[in-house]
Parts: sequence; C-alpha cells; structure tokens
Amino acid sequence: MTLVMKFGGTSVGSADAMRETAALILRTKETWNSVVVVASGMGSKPVKVTDLLLQGAYAAVDGDEQSYSRVAEQLREIHFEAIDGLLEPEGERQKILAENNDFIDHYLALCEAVCVLGELSPRALDAIGGMGERMSVRILAAYLRQLGHEAEAIDATELIVTDSNFQNASPIFGQTQVKSSGVIQPLLEQDSIPIITGFIGSDTNGVTTTLGRGGSDYSASILGQTMKADEVWIWTDVDGVMSADPRFVSTARSIPILNYREVSELAYFGARVLHPKTMRPCVESNIPLRIKNTFNPDHPGTVILADDPGSNGAIKAVTAIKDLCLITVEGTGMVGVPGIAARTFGAVASSDVSVLLISQASSEQSICFSVPDGATEIVIDSLAGEFAGELERRDIDSIWAMRDVSIVTIVGSGMRGTPGISGRIFSSLGDHQVNVIAIAQGSSECSISIVVAAEDTGSAVSHIHELIAA
Ligand code: ADP
Ligand code: ASP
Ligand code: MG
Repeated sequence: MTLVMKFGGTSVGSADAMRETAALILRTKETWNSVVVVASGMGSKPVKVTDLLLQGAYAAVDGDEQSYSRVAEQLREIHFEAIDGLLEPEGERQKILAENNDFIDHYLALCEAVCVLGELSPRALDAIGGMGERMSVRILAAYLRQLGHEAEAIDATELIVTDSNFQNASPIFGQTQVKSSGVIQPLLEQDSIPIITGFIGSDTNGVTTTLGRGGSDYSASILGQTMKADEVWIWTDVDGVMSADPRFVSTARSIPILNYREVSELAYFGARVLHPKTMRPCVESNIPLRIKNTFNPDHPGTVILADDPGSNGAIKAVTAIKDLCLITVEGTGMVGVPGIAARTFGAVASSDVSVLLISQASSEQSICFSVPDGATEIVIDSLAGEFAGELERRDIDSIWAMRDVSIVTIVGSGMRGTPGISGRIFSSLGDHQVNVIAIAQGSSECSISIVVAAEDTGSAVSHIHELIAA
C-alpha cells in the first residue's frame, strides 16, 4: 500500500510545525508501509518563503539591491531558526545549516545577476522561486533521521519532467514515471521515506521549472499517479475543503465528501485550498484524495472521490475570484454571422490571456466574458484590431469593459436536476441588493457562476453561504 502525503507551507512553517508533521509522517507509516512525502517551502503566516524569494527577485530587476539583500537575511533567519529549533548540534545541524546557507548565497548571486542584467525571465523566476522547497525538504528529512528513521531529501527536478512552459509547466507523464519510480522505488524498498520538493520539476534539458503557484498539491498528485499510490493526502492548515473561504466566512464548515468535478470547479474558481490541476492525475487513475489539517489531525477532513453517492440537491460550497473585468462585444450585425465567437476568443488567446467565464445572449447580439483586470487593455486592443472591419461597418457596435468585478461560484453536483436552486440563489441576492451582472452555468451543471461588482462580493458570498446552512 502506497500513500503520497503533501504538507503545505504552514505544515512546515516553523520548527514546531515540522515536529507535528514529522510525528504525523511516522504515525501514518505504521499503517501504510510505503509513504512518500511532498513538502512545500516554509510558509508560516504571514510570511511565505516563496513570496519572499519572488519579492526579492522583483526588487532585483528594479535595481533595488537593499531590498533583495534584506530578503536574503530574512530567509536566513527563517531557515536557521527552524534548523536550530529542530536539529541537535552534535547531529546534522551544521551540515543542514551549511546547505541552506549555500542556497541563500546562490539566491543572492541570482538576484545580483538579475539586478545587473535588469531582466527577469520566467525561467529565472522558476530557478529563484523554487528554492524554498529545496531548503525545507532538507530540514525535514534531517529531522526524521534524527528521530531514527531513514529519510532522504529529493529535488523533484530529478523526478518530474515537464515542458518548458516556465511558471506554469505541465508534466510529461511517461518520462516522469520512469524517473520517479527509478528514484523513489529503491528508497521505499529500503524502508526509507522520500521527502520530495513540491512545486518544481525540470524540463527535458534539465532546466528547473515550476508548476504554478500553489503547485505542490499538483506535485503530490502527479507522483501519486506515477507511483500508483492507493491514496493521496494533502495536509494543510484547515479541516479540509470548507463550504467557503474560512478567512472571509466565519461560519464556513468542512465538507466531508466531494466528488472530483466539484472540487475541480471550486479550485478553478478561487478556492486556494487545492491547486486547480491537482485532480487530473487522481481522476485518470481513480485515486482517492483526502484533505486534512496538520494542526487537527484527528478531524476526518474532506475525502474526494469519483462519485459522491450521498449528494442530494444541496449547494455544497461557494467561492469567489476577485480583480476581474467583464468584456462585452455587442452589435446587431453579429446575429447569425458564423465565427464571431471563435474570432473573439482567438484574439483573446493571442494576447496570452485566459478567459474564466463566458456568457452569450441567445439572440447572439452580444458575447461577454471575464478576464483578469490587469489584462483589460491588452484584450480590448486585441479585439479592436481583430474586428476593425466590423466596427467600421457597425456590424459590431461596441467592445467595452466593466472593471472591478468578481465571479462568485456556487458548487454542488446535486444542484443538477434539483428545481428551485437558482431561484433561491437569485432571490437571496435580490433581497440583499446584490446586482447580478452576468450568469453562466458550468456545462457539468455542478456549478453556477455569477458576476457581481467587486464591492458586492462579500455580501454575495455570505448570503449564498446562508443557503447552505438552510
Ligand atoms: P498550503 O500551504 O497548505 O497549501 P494554502 O494557503 O495554499 O495552504 O491553502 C489553504 C488555505 O486555503 C486555507 O488556509 C484557507 O485560508 C484557504 N481557503 C480558501 N478557500 C477555501 C476553502 N473553500 N476551503 C478551505 N480552505 C480554503
Ligand atoms: N511554495 C509554492 C507556492 O507558494 C508551492 C506551494 O506552496 O504549493 O506557490
Ligand atoms: Mg496551497
């Protein structure tokens, strides 16, 4: 029986958190004979090592030597404090201190190079941003060894082969499978616990890539698939997937069971508890996924299965993405003209922007869609170029953007075929003066998304959340 467990930033965020994490690893190992661990960079709130690393890199490209030097000192403090708190001086403390120190020296050298060149490529951001995981796994593995268990820190650059899409790389399954089983299997056979960096991989040329922010969850499910794991567990700092973001909705509760589709929609639409791509390998290989709380390990958390037999007509969760804009292309001359939608989204794609939600009036007189607010100008310009002829002929009357909007998404596969759910949602929003700007229903029918003004986001989320409790 093989179990892949991933520990998020807070779970390795301090010496105390690493102690809890190590205890959990060893406790789980008593029942699962093969345990593979994936860990994030240290992330004790509010300071997250990955954020610090990237912050320093951005300061470097602006020529701000003082800021990145300060970041390097902060990184030293965070890691050295954890090492001093965990490792005994007569054991591996000096060795691990020296290794972490070398990483931070290397970080400084990279920042200096960025500063001199005045250039920060996606490739450089991945080399820099992925260093947090390399440091944390070395500390955790040494601590497990100090507790008397075989454990080995491994950089996932040796295991996960990706394309060269820096900052958002995709794994290449076959090569990853060969490499990861080649390295991990012998360790498991020797009863050693592999402690693997989340977030990073390397492309076919051996250059470090990252799987996107929050990507350690995805690392765990990729390795779960390649190692043919029986389950994948994600350990974080909340009791599983909650009915709303607990930072904003105090009454949010843990959801015991979700299906793959529901959790994918939640993750895609902003619930940062899971990286949106995490589900894919699990779906393909039918691997159950659990989300659990390192700081409350006896809580059952959430289990994610292919099918949730118990789902009734209920709304399960509500989530929101902020800082978006809604772009509308409209004109009476669009009616019945084939290819307008294709050209619209072609123009958006050519500006390298991804569309989060689409809604088209059935009369075909308008198409509206949302993109990140920062991309507004570039998308409008690109559409204006694409439709220059139509605009001149007045087939398209206008292309315009509504700034400062959010998408609020309501998830629950049982909503399908349950009459009255949308009625309740919209009456509640109406009763609380929340104006709905656009609506889209997920094709899976397990989600409904609405666009509201940014200032209405909190109210929309909390009033919809009240319907869950009802
Ligand atoms: P980790 O470092 O463990 O990966 P993250 O910060 O990436 O942790 O994700 C966990 C956080 O996600 C929680 O602390 C919580 O604030 C936030 N979150 C947002 N939406 C949800 C939700 N629906 N359920 C649970 N957590 C959520
Ligand atoms: N450390 C990375 C990040 O902060 C990956 C992760 O934590 O999942 O994005
Ligand atoms: Mg995360």
